[in-house]
Amino acid sequence: MSTVTGSTITGGQPRAVARHTAAAEELATEGRWEEAYEHLRSAMQLLGGRPAPADELDRLRREHAEAREQSRRDSLTDSYNRRYLDERLVDLLDAPVRTGALGLSVAIADADHFKQVNDTYGHQFGDRVLQRLVTLLDVDLPRGAFCARYGGEEFALVLPDLDLTAAIRVCEAARARVDRHPWAELDPGLRLTVSAGVAHSSVHPPEVERVIGAADGMLYAAKQAGRNAVAYRDPRSGLVCLAGAAARRRAIPQTARTTG
Ligand code: GH3
Ligand code: MG
Ligand code: MG
Repeated sequence: MSTVTGSTITGGQPRAVARHTAAAEELATEGRWEEAYEHLRSAMQLLGGRPAPADELDRLRREHAEAREQSRRDSLTDSYNRRYLDERLVDLLDAPVRTGALGLSVAIADADHFKQVNDTYGHQFGDRVLQRLVTLLDVDLPRGAFCARYGGEEFALVLPDLDLTAAIRVCEAARARVDRHPWAELDPGLRLTVSAGVAHSSVHPPEVERVIGAADGMLYAAKQAGRNAVAYRDPRSGLVCLAGAAARRRAIPQTARTTG
């Protein structure tokens, strides 16, 4: 005698029931709900002719949605992870062209001198700092934008349908929010800032790889220019500039266009 999803069955049916149930679960993970439901119905008929209860499919759907959401999240910071970032960037490449679309902006933000935080307070404390940093980067993003952990203490802000000027404004606001944050709540001696590079692609489909490379190049420029800054390349002059008050800094390194 075997038991499948709580019901007792006899004879040569258990394998067929298990096959239908497994097929239903697999189809559900692919979002093919109707086919999953058919398999579930077959399984339930083998279990005594009862139709599949709707809540069984709902349970599968819920479990799948939860598992999918978890697979897209970074376990430490709960921010979106690299897998989600890659999936969304592919979606953006495949998205239909819209008239009046403003292109894609991407920023790469990196915690300044984060190694020192770990060295001073320990890795676990550093983890808590990163968790708080994510909440600060995530808050107030425009509709359709998202933050994903790019690796280590680096985060990508993906800003679809935002031109460069708007993207710079969003990034500078995020930088200032981190700068102003009362980090002393975590430890009286703690201070944390971020640097970011921003780049934009106006064509469709967006030049995702170029724009990420360019944002990375601008991040490097922001670090070189003294950190706690947002760097971008001014499309008119071709010069590397810093956003906000940091624009007044004298030493802004000018890199070749291939990196920004
Ligand atoms: P910079 O301003 O040039 O970015 O300096 P930095 O010290 O932040 O850069 P560096 O690349 O030298 O060090 C990054 C540090 O981030 C080292 C690494 O251990 C730490 N880090 C990366 N991921 C994690 C993490 O998940 N938790 C903790 N606590 N630390 C992490
Ligand atoms: Mg860093
Ligand atoms: Mg880094």
